[in-house]
Amino acid sequence: MERVVEIERFEEEVSYEVTLRPGNWDDYIGQVKIKKNLKVFIEASKRRKEALDHVLFFGPPGLGKTTLANIIASEMDANIKTTAAPMIEKAGDLAALLTNIEEGDILFIDEIHRMSPAIEEILYPAMEDFRLDIIIGSGPAAQTVRIDLPRFTLIGATTRAGMLSSPLRERFGMHFRMQFYTPSELGTIVEKASHKLDKPTQESASKEIAGRSRGTPRVALRLLRRVRDFAEVADEMEIKLKTTKYALDELGVNHLGFDEQDIQLLEFLVSAKGKPMGLSTIGAALSEDEGTIEDVLEPYLLANGYIERTARGRIATQKSYEHFRLTMPNKEGLFE
Ligand code: ADP
Repeated sequence: MERVVEIERFEEEVSYEVTLRPGNWDDYIGQVKIKKNLKVFIEASKRRKEALDHVLFFGPPGLGKTTLANIIASEMDANIKTTAAPMIEKAGDLAALLTNIEEGDILFIDEIHRMSPAIEEILYPAMEDFRLDIIIGSGPAAQTVRIDLPRFTLIGATTRAGMLSSPLRERFGMHFRMQFYTPSELGTIVEKASHKLDKPTQESASKEIAGRSRGTPRVALRLLRRVRDFAEVADEMEIKLKTTKYALDELGVNHLGFDEQDIQLLEFLVSAKGKPMGLSTIGAALSEDEGTIEDVLEPYLLANGYIERTARGRIATQKSYEHFRLTMPNKEGLFE
């Protein structure tokens, strides 16, 4: 079954998201500090008539990194080209992208931590000195061809800041860590989206969806979409709280936004009675990819204090034990 709070996107969902994607600062809710800083930097570079410095966004999927890149482009009156690091396999792929951009344009590279080291090497001089050194041919006949590039802005997005090589990270002039959204911010996002979809939600219903969205706009929009189906079948003009609660319960999302997989993870850690569990052990227990556990499942549970990362592995916190109405093992138990 498709996971309701899954952060990866399915194709039809991409077009749903694009319809709802905010196109300007006013519609972009939350991330107040990032917005404030970006507005200043954009204004300054526009006054200097220069391309914006390279920008790096990091944080869990679905928090609005791609959306921000698009808003920056629109504020800079620049064109944006979007790609993801795994799509850039050869030096030629990167060269094709970079030689096709114009002065001030934006290149958005998603999942930038997945860039191959060979491509990274070519990217460094492109980011720093706006030039490309491409080697043509091989052996003694190999030649380096230098291509001058227009001044462009690279916007990189990553779910794993720790996996980015430091030379690459240092070449970004601005680094922004995305924050999980508050229920009130998510409530506004749901309300605005429901109006755009011509199926308004009652205020209490948007609050309910917001509270169960793991701090993530993508999840909030996904839940809204499902709830809307239930409301449609019930012939509701306006999405009601009762239908919302019913739909979300049917979808297996609890009052904290946890779905079965979150619960499985917490139960597993709680049953370990304080013994730290490694990522691979958790992956095997949940039959889930380690990357998904680290990128999708854990960040929200960590940010909300349900689990902790220690040098020896993950452990459940007091809050998790309380969630299952259990007593946390005492210190002696912890270090058995
Ligand atoms: P990421 O690139 O971080 O995975 P996206 O930018 O694709 O996330 O955001 C997912 C969807 O959530 C977007 O299509 C957009 O509709 C919505 N969204 C994200 N951030 C916001 C925000 N701050 N305000 C309103 N909607 C948002």
